[in-house]
Amino acid sequence: MQLSEKTEEVVKEIELFIQYGVQGHEQHGAIALLQRYKNDAIALQLMKSFYTSLPEIHEEAIGRIVFINKKDDIFLLGLSTTRHAYLYLATEQKALLLGENGQEFSEPEIFTLFGYLDAQDFFEKYPTFISCEEYKPVSASGSRFCPACMAAVGEYHLLGCPVEICPWCDGQLSRCGCRFEQLGVDVLEDEEDLEELERILEEKGRIPYSEEQYPSYPSAMDE
Ligand SMILES: [Zn+2]
Ligand SMILES: [Zn+2]
Repeated sequence: MQLSEKTEEVVKEIELFIQYGVQGHEQHGAIALLQRYKNDAIALQLMKSFYTSLPEIHEEAIGRIVFINKKDDIFLLGLSTTRHAYLYLATEQKALLLGENGQEFSEPEIFTLFGYLDAQDFFEKYPTFISCEEYKPVSASGSRFCPACMAAVGEYHLLGCPVEICPWCDGQLSRCGCRFEQLGVDVLEDEEDLEELERILEEKGRIPYSEEQYPSYPSAMDE
């Protein structure tokens, strides 16, 4: 995949910025964290954005990246250094610094996009990032998003996505006959049938997207 080549370039670029920008005693930890996220396009964009703007950021290394929220393919991530905490928007293409946590933000309407009332509501929920879970890196062979419907790891596929696994037979849900059997029909005719399918799927235990489903995608597309 071209993505991995580009990712390697980004890693090298960030390494260089760390060597020139981060204080000596923090460099080792910074490189270790970079290695941990070296296959994760979103984290790399975040690190690149942080380290390329270093002069104002006190030459500190990133200590921890935390997951806060997401909306479609946009992640709201927290980044903490020894003495500071910053909030970022990040996708696989780009990361944007929103500001230092708890301080005034240039675009406070961002918070409503993620379901918070306003910036204050957000800061009350997240006065610090200490209790937030770590943003987990994707593995070398995986992808954070379903290549067909863009569901993220842990989310349900869009109904009809060819990557979704059938909870009744472990086959490909869009191909196997289980949906007809379970609904007792020969064809799915209307919206109502689809809603009923979704209901019984959830009752059975729908299988959300996980990285392991990723490599099976090319074969799923073969006729
Ligand atoms: Zn999918
Ligand atoms: Zn099935």
